[in-house]
Amino acid sequence: MASPDSNSNPMFKRTALIGIGLIGSSISHAARRAGLVGEIVCSSQTSEERERALALGLASKAYANPADAVKGADLVILCAPVGAFKEIAEAIGPHLDKGAIVSDVGSVKAAAVRDVAPSMPEGVHFIPGHPIAGTEQSGPDAGFATLFDNRWCILTPAPDTNPAALAKLEEFWRKLGSNVELMTPEHHDMVLAITSHVPHLIAYNIVNTAAHLERVTDSEVIKFSAAGFRDFTRIAASDPVMWRDVFLNNKDAVLEMLGRFSEDLVALQRAIRFGDGEMLEQTFTKARAIRRGIIQAGQDTAQPDFGRNAARARESST
Ligand code: NAP
Repeated sequence: MASPDSNSNPMFKRTALIGIGLIGSSISHAARRAGLVGEIVCSSQTSEERERALALGLASKAYANPADAVKGADLVILCAPVGAFKEIAEAIGPHLDKGAIVSDVGSVKAAAVRDVAPSMPEGVHFIPGHPIAGTEQSGPDAGFATLFDNRWCILTPAPDTNPAALAKLEEFWRKLGSNVELMTPEHHDMVLAITSHVPHLIAYNIVNTAAHLERVTDSEVIKFSAAGFRDFTRIAASDPVMWRDVFLNNKDAVLEMLGRFSEDLVALQRAIRFGDGEMLEQTFTKARAIRRGIIQAGQDTAQPDFGRNAARARESST
């Protein structure tokens, strides 16, 4: 790992990461890898996380109060759960430097604008963002430098956003390894409702349904999980606070997508009831083509079992 604050000609002199969990720590690793930042400081509420962030070299200073972290920063990124954004924005607003870029990584964007923008002073550039990259792990130990490589980062600038500030933030994310796309916060929330939020809800639901079954035992569910269930449990292991905040803050788009999902599920239910094999096969064939598209776009591996066998073979040979 590069030593903290070793870069003499950084893109940003002082970067403040508010929250230093999976995403905050991954930004620290990736920014250091690319030599983008001078000093990195962070804030987190718990002393355990602050001590861990310092021990891992993720930041040179770790503050309990986000207002202390942002003083003198030219880049501030909110890396906490979306439900904490309003309180954080109100706390940091009066302490931000003129010309600073403030961004976030929250999984919901209209709510980020609603909660953060009103506290941003004149001359500060607030540009919301969302890296479409993650794992089910959380905390400062979970981060790694390659998390954003070849993944998309969506930025949702307001129409009057300063073009130079936007170009700088776009370049920052590209140098972290991401591809960058711009869209409105509302469009982002609709797209992510179907690609991320509803799938997580389905995973949480199916895992709980299995837990409540009476005629299939818990040990059978665990023993035979490789039949498909196991992959839902990985998604359902994601951080409960983060996902609570996602659903509370993207209510309309999630309910809209869930309505469509339920209609399609009823159609499949009818096809099974009435033995409509043609309908089932057509639906599954269409779904398979989408999987192929994801692999061709480099967004997942084509290896059988998501590469688990290859990973196991690597582990056993080391
Ligand atoms: P995480 O690993 O649980 O880390 C969250 C961080 O926020 C911790 O450092 C936590 O530390 C801090 N925090 C929590 N509540 C806070 C508060 N009220 N004020 C200040 N700091 C607070 O979560 P993560 O996965 O990095 O997620 C962070 C953000 O990234 C979320 O907004 C999430 O929507 C977004 N995101 C997540 C993923 C993913 O796959 N996980 C992907 C893309 C975007 P303390 O509790 O010590 O304060």
